[in-house]
Amino acid sequence: MSGKIAMKKKVLRRLKGQIKFIFFLFKANKNNRSFKMLKNKYLLLSFIGFSLYCLDKRLKKQVKVYYVDSMPFGFNGLAIPPFGIFIDKKHKGNKNLLLHEIVHWKQFQENGLLLFLIKFFFYQIKYGYDKNPMEIEARFNESDFCKCNYTFCVKNGIAKTVSNPNFRKL
Ligand SMILES: [Zn+2]
Repeated sequence: MSGKIAMKKKVLRRLKGQIKFIFFLFKANKNNRSFKMLKNKYLLLSFIGFSLYCLDKRLKKQVKVYYVDSMPFGFNGLAIPPFGIFIDKKHKGNKNLLLHEIVHWKQFQENGLLLFLIKFFFYQIKYGYDKNPMEIEARFNESDFCKCNYTFCVKNGIAKTVSNPNFRKL
């Protein structure tokens, strides 16, 4: 706990230093070209840093689950980092489906947003949806057959997680 407080103090001290520096730059001679460039660069870096800081805050927060009227392409649920987990209202109360999406959320927390997206789409292109290793990881409670043939299992009511004849209808 004390470590956390010390870290917060450190962050605050850093922020204070940054704000002071920004004021200093604003006061600096506006006609000095190199100073102007440094100012712009610093503002851009501050903006990127602040965005990453906010995103990181979001990463550590508890995930938000939204129950929606309909999902695209017959999906039952989707984890859309950093926004939250979206689940079709029809499947509200389905613990297995929620756990599936939570595995995706954990993958996002472990990798960070950028690496999560790169990895997921790389696997998606290389292996396809049914054999995507990150999807297989999320199907931990399915049988070995359904882990690799998930679309078939969900469509035909064999999957433990969810049954949906319109699953992935594009
Ligand atoms: Zn999934």
